[in-house]
Amino acid sequence: MSYSITLIPGDGIGPEVVAAAVRVLTATGLAFEWETEAAGASAIGSEGSALPARVLDSIRRNKLALKGPTETPVGTGHRSVNVELRKALDLYANLRPVKTLPGVKSRYDGVDLIVVRENTEDLYSGLEHVVVPGVVESIKIITERASSRIAQFAFDHARKNGRKRVTAVHKANIMKLSDGLFLDCCRRAAKDYPEVKYDELIVDNTCMQLVLDPTRFDILLLENLYGDIVSDLCAGFIGGLGMAPGANIGEDAAVFEAVHGSAPDIAGKNVANPIALVMSAAMMLDHIGEADAARRVREAVHAVLREGRKLTRDLGGSAGTTEITEAIAAKV
Ligand code: NAD
Repeated sequence: MSYSITLIPGDGIGPEVVAAAVRVLTATGLAFEWETEAAGASAIGSEGSALPARVLDSIRRNKLALKGPTETPVGTGHRSVNVELRKALDLYANLRPVKTLPGVKSRYDGVDLIVVRENTEDLYSGLEHVVVPGVVESIKIITERASSRIAQFAFDHARKNGRKRVTAVHKANIMKLSDGLFLDCCRRAAKDYPEVKYDELIVDNTCMQLVLDPTRFDILLLENLYGDIVSDLCAGFIGGLGMAPGANIGEDAAVFEAVHGSAPDIAGKNVANPIALVMSAAMMLDHIGEADAARRVREAVHAVLREGRKLTRDLGGSAGTTEITEAIAAKV
C-alpha cells in the first residue's frame, strides 16, 4: 500500500526541512506518493497566487499534507497561506506537543505539555478596516461552535492519550463576552469528561507560570492568538523552534507542519534544524495508523540527540541539515 500525500516545500528553510522529513519517512520503508505543490511567496512568482486552488484540491483529495513554512509579508502583501489553508479546509485544531528531548540543553527537564489551539477564528479572521484615517478596527470573532469543537477536541485528546488535566487559557476578565463565551464552552465540554481535571488561567498569568515551571502543565486549551504566542514560548522550553512539531487537524483533512516559520535569516545555508518537521511527520504517521513507523522515527531522533555528534548549530553542534538528516535516517 502506498500513501498519497500533498507535499508543500514552502519558503525559506521550507524546502530544506521538507526534503529532510521526506528522507526520514522514506527510511521507514513505507511507500509514499508525493504530490508536490507550490504555496507561499515562492508560488506568487510562478503561479500568481500564494495559495493556488490546485493546492487545496490536492489536499482535499489526499486528506493529508506535509507542509514547510510559508512566508507572510509584515503589514502589507498577501494574506497568510496558513490562515487561508486552515480556514478553507476547516483544520480547526492545532495540536502542538511540547516535550523535553534527551540530550537537548534547556532550562527545564521533564516538560511534557500539549498546546491545543483553536485554528479558524479569533483575531485571525482577517476582518480589519480603517474606520477613519488614524483609526483601525480589527474584529475578534469567537463562536460557540468553534469553541465547543476545540474544547471537545482537547478533552478527547486527553482521554485517548491518558492526559490528566486541561487548562483553558483566557482573558475573560477584560473580554467578558468573547473570552467569556470561550470559557462557557470549555466548562460545558469539561462536564462530559469527569476523569479529566479542568481549570482556568488568565493568559498573562499563564505565561508567568509557564516560565516559572512548565512541568506543572498538561494540556493548554487556547483561542487562536493566545495559542500562537504561547506555542512559541513553549518551544523555548525544549531547545527552540527547531524542535517544536505540530499538526492542523480537521474532520476531512490534516496538515502537518512545524511551529517555526520560514527563517529567512538561515535559509539556503544547510543549517536549519529539521527535527521539528521530522517530528511533525511522525505525528502524521500516528495519524494514519502507522504507530510503529512513528515510534521508529522518534527513537531515531532521540538516539541522534543522545549521541550528540551530529547536531545542528541551534543545538550547539556544527552539523548541517543534511548531515543530521542522514544520521536520523540511518537509525530509522
Ligand atoms: P521563524 O520561526 O521563521 O524564525 C524565528 C527564529 O527561529 C529565527 O532566528 C530562525 O532562524 C529560528 N529558527 C526557526 N526555525 C528554525 C529551525 N528549523 N532551525 C534553526 N533555527 C530556526 O519566525 P519569524 O522570523 O517570525 O518569521 C519568518 C517568516 O515565517 C514570516 O514570514 C512568518 O509569517 C512566517 N511564518 C510561517 C509559519 C508557517 O508557515 N507555519 C509560522 C510562523 C511564521
